[in-house]
Amino acid sequence: MMNKINEFKLTVDSRSINESFARVVVSAFVTPLDPTLEEIADLKTAVSEAVTNCIVHAYKDTYGRIYITGIITDNNLVKLTIRDRGCGISDIDKAMTPLFTTGEGDRAGLGFTVMESFCDTLRVRSKPDKGTTVILTKKIEGKSKW
Ligand code: ATP
Ligand code: MG
Repeated sequence: MMNKINEFKLTVDSRSINESFARVVVSAFVTPLDPTLEEIADLKTAVSEAVTNCIVHAYKDTYGRIYITGIITDNNLVKLTIRDRGCGISDIDKAMTPLFTTGEGDRAGLGFTVMESFCDTLRVRSKPDKGTTVILTKKIEGKSKW
C-alpha cells in the first residue's frame, strides 16, 4: 500500500523565469527524501524540459498558466505532473520520437527523450487545442526522514 506523504500544487505563468522557479520548488520538495545530487539534478532537468515545452510550444506566441503538482509516497516515489491549457499535441508518439521537433532550428527535439531517461516513467496525454499533461515518476533511493 502506497500512502501519500506530501503534496504540492503550483500554478505559474508561462514565462521563462518560471522554469528556474519550478526547478527550485521541485528540488526543495524532494529534499526531505535525502536524494543524491544526481537524483536532484535528474528531477530538475526533467521538470525544466516539461515546463519549457509549455512555454515555447503549448503557449507559443501567447501566455497561459502552467499547473505543476508533486506527490511523494511512502515508498519514496516522486510523481510530478506538468499541465498546460495550450495548443496540445496531435500525434504524441511522433512528438516523443527523439530528434522530432516543431521548433525553428533552436530546438533539438530531445526534451521528451531527456525526461524519459532521467525519470523512471513518463506519460503524456494531450488533446489538440485543449492542452497537454506530462506525468513523471522517479523513485528516490535515499533513506526517508519522514
Ligand atoms: P528540445 O526540448 O530539445 O529543445 P523540443 O521541445 O522540440 O526540443 P521535445 O521537448 O522532445 O523537443 O518535444 C517534441 C515536440 O513535441 C515539440 O517540438 C512540440 O511539437 C511538441 N510538444 C512538446 N510539449 C508540448 C506541449 N506542452 N504543448 C504542445 N506541444 C508540445
Ligand atoms: Mg522541449
